[in-house]
Amino acid sequence: MEKEIACKICGNSQNNRVHIAKERLLNMKDEFLYLECSNCYCLQIIETPADLSKYYPSAYYSFQKPVFGLKLNPFVYLLKKSLLRHYLKKFDPIGALVALFLPHPFQWMRPGLVEFNDAILDIGCGSGRIIQSMQRSGFKNLTGIDPFLEKDLQNSAGMKILKKDVFEMSDQYDFVMIHHAFEHMDQPEKVLGKVKDLLKPKGKLLIRIPVANSHAWRKYRTHWFALDAPRHLFLHTTHSIQLLADKAGLKIDRIDYDSSYVQFASSEKYLRNFPYSGDFSMFSREQMKNFSKEAKRLNEIGDGDCACFYLSLR
Ligand SMILES: [Zn+2]
Repeated sequence: MEKEIACKICGNSQNNRVHIAKERLLNMKDEFLYLECSNCYCLQIIETPADLSKYYPSAYYSFQKPVFGLKLNPFVYLLKKSLLRHYLKKFDPIGALVALFLPHPFQWMRPGLVEFNDAILDIGCGSGRIIQSMQRSGFKNLTGIDPFLEKDLQNSAGMKILKKDVFEMSDQYDFVMIHHAFEHMDQPEKVLGKVKDLLKPKGKLLIRIPVANSHAWRKYRTHWFALDAPRHLFLHTTHSIQLLADKAGLKIDRIDYDSSYVQFASSEKYLRNFPYSGDFSMFSREQMKNFSKEAKRLNEIGDGDCACFYLSLR
């Protein structure tokens, strides 16, 4: 289907394609039209449903349950902090030893990206799983915000988890991160402009999102797991993020691809008309191994279906 509808990112209205995508995660099967821009390749829902909340039941994964209240043994805390120091390329013999047994707890946390005392903001934090985990690894100044929380979950010196929209924020941060939330926002340009104001002059921004025009989109089209209609309003590409960054006065410093076996296992299930579940027992161990191997290969050539965009001020 071709239609003259303008792309909400770059404005192009020539040769854009329209796809019919079904709600598959919850097996509701409602249909939504998505535009695929022929210029920036951004995939976007044409009309955002008036009531999106019915597609976010309270059992939606990021809000399943807050994970607070567990007391961390001080010895375990020190080991975790040592492990992270080692992965952040600081000299830490104990961390080096622990690293023989434990992987990097935050694969997206590149050396030099963030320091333990930095003011950190997580936008769209859900129940705060990531920042709590960061607190337990030694970070001291963490704020998470999510407008879809029922109420504030935590407000203490080292960590705040607040029911707030990005536009209600005014402090400035050394590091702002948006983990798989940017694709849910219906005004990406406005959000990025606001996020820019929340960054200190040397502040850094990380946006982790699914990316369109990737192998998994080309292979599975509307059965692509990460399309996730209608919750994902924009499936960006490097081109569309570049355009948004330019408009906001930001620059892209680096892009890392971090897709996983899920792009294959979950999309294959959608192709067979199964709703989402973490149960992949229908695939053999060999198949699962191949899914992971293929994801790794795609990440290396920049064609995985999820990426980490590292940005800073121009
Ligand atoms: Zn476009």
